[in-house]
Amino acid sequence: MPPTMLKFVTVEQATPPKRDAVSRRADFQEIYDEYAIDRAAEQAARCSQCGIPFCQVHCPLQNNIPDWLMLTAAGRLEEAYEMASATNNMPEICGRICPQDRLCEGNCVIEQSTHGTVTIGAIEKYITESAWQNGWVTPLRPVRERSPSIGIIGAGPGGLAAAEELRRKGYGVDVYDRYDRLGGLLVYGIPNFKLEKSVVIRRTDRLAEGGIRFHTDFEVGRDATLDDLRDRHDAVLIATGVYQGRGISLPGSGLADIVPAMTYLTASNRKGLGDRVPAFDDGTLDGADKNVVVIGGGDTAMDCVRTAVRQGAKSVKCLYRRDRANMPGSMREVTNAEDEGVEFIWLSAPEAFLGDGAVRGVRAHRMRLDAPDATGRQKPEPVEGSSFTLDADLVITALGFDPEDIPTLFGAADLKVTDWGTLRIDHRTMMTNLDGVFAAGDIVRGASLVVWAIRDGRDAAEQIEKYLEARTGAAVADPRLALAS
Ligand SMILES: Cc1cc2nc3c(=O)[nH]c(=O)nc-3n(C[C@H](O)[C@H](O)[C@H](O)COP(=O)(O)OP(=O)(O)OC[C@H]3O[C@@H](n4cnc5c(N)ncnc54)[C@H](O)[C@@H]3O)c2cc1C
Ligand code: SF4
Repeated sequence: MPPTMLKFVTVEQATPPKRDAVSRRADFQEIYDEYAIDRAAEQAARCSQCGIPFCQVHCPLQNNIPDWLMLTAAGRLEEAYEMASATNNMPEICGRICPQDRLCEGNCVIEQSTHGTVTIGAIEKYITESAWQNGWVTPLRPVRERSPSIGIIGAGPGGLAAAEELRRKGYGVDVYDRYDRLGGLLVYGIPNFKLEKSVVIRRTDRLAEGGIRFHTDFEVGRDATLDDLRDRHDAVLIATGVYQGRGISLPGSGLADIVPAMTYLTASNRKGLGDRVPAFDDGTLDGADKNVVVIGGGDTAMDCVRTAVRQGAKSVKCLYRRDRANMPGSMREVTNAEDEGVEFIWLSAPEAFLGDGAVRGVRAHRMRLDAPDATGRQKPEPVEGSSFTLDADLVITALGFDPEDIPTLFGAADLKVTDWGTLRIDHRTMMTNLDGVFAAGDIVRGASLVVWAIRDGRDAAEQIEKYLEARTGAAVADPRLALAS
């Protein structure tokens, strides 16, 4: 479909209207999938070209936003796409799921002057979708083949961005992932209503067609040690993300139907992909007709409550120990959840889970916020005698993620980690303490964002190239190089 035929719908327009009760079944779609060039151009033309590109500064990829907005406003979409994709391996994905209110759009000068931000993310998505539809997204073809080979552990956005950059330079790239599908949290974490899986598959298909070798169902630690991969490759990148959900230890926390967020979201995403998921099919992980209580206040908690709404829950409540102003997640996500009928129980924390075999309720108490500590954050304190009970047939815990014990899992006891268990790297070279072993994404930063993982993947690719060139001599002088046909 030519871009002129597409209709443009902003995030705000695509958000379901405020509902009195929790909506029954997923009949709404917030991914603004209909666009029109005139609307995109109109939005892009709102950019004041202010000369101080705060939007660009606050984009982790330093995307050249003002320039591609100017090109879009002038209807020069192909050039806008080329510019947008020069700094971003997945612009259509970032356009959909970056928390723009905290990054580019939140720092738009027009937003600061209370006139409403230029919808940068939606335009970025529009430009790139137009590129896919018009055949402007070219195949991944290295200019020449190079003999060094790189092994990448993890096919999330960090690993994929690094793989693309290294393959583009002509290196042999093998990506190992323990999942059966590629994309990491893009596929099994982030819900379909925020990011359609076909968008991720389209990207990974292009990478596979470009010669990147993917090894799915391959778990490092089970199917190979880190040393095995070091023997097999000239450099190794660890981009394994963080997957250990923080637990909750309270009376009754062993009851059935109290589940970690990733278990719940993975089941829902697998269903969306057409998989058979026994624990969903028997109702255990399906929120339909249940009173669902989600514990936590980050973006993962928002994904859980909004998934439960779409599953047709009887009620969806979010229990968070701080107040709205102190939510760690994106305000846009909180507003979306509120609009969809989610009830937020602010300043409240669980004290026990009630039930006989399976959970039937959550006993909680009120919290108050203390004076700010040295970090400026107010510590929540329980209010005595403030207990209350919520009905619950399904409790989802979304309390954040910690890294797994990578040195033990990978059989690499000498691999250094930080006090938080993330991999310790030299931030200039992105190399761990092991020669030729690099790391990127959440496993270095702790739970973060897709756009930061992409940035890290790109930086790691650059550093790996430097490392290989220093080790093997200048690449150009390598007699093994052959021009690609
Ligand atoms: C529910 C949820 C929703 C989110 N929503 C957003 C959002 O809307 N916007 C946003 O910007 N960010 C969001 N994030 C954060 C974002 O998804 C992550 O920051 C990002 O995916 C990190 O990328 P990564 O490549 O470092 O790791 P991951 O995406 O986690 O990928 C790591 C990969 O490594 C593989 N792996 C792990 N261990 C091994 C092993 N031993 N052997 C082989 N493979 C292994 C995993 O299977 C996985 O495929 C969300 C996170 C969650 C949990
Ligand atoms: S990558 Fe994210 S932060 Fe950067 S311009 Fe796009 S939406 Fe904004």
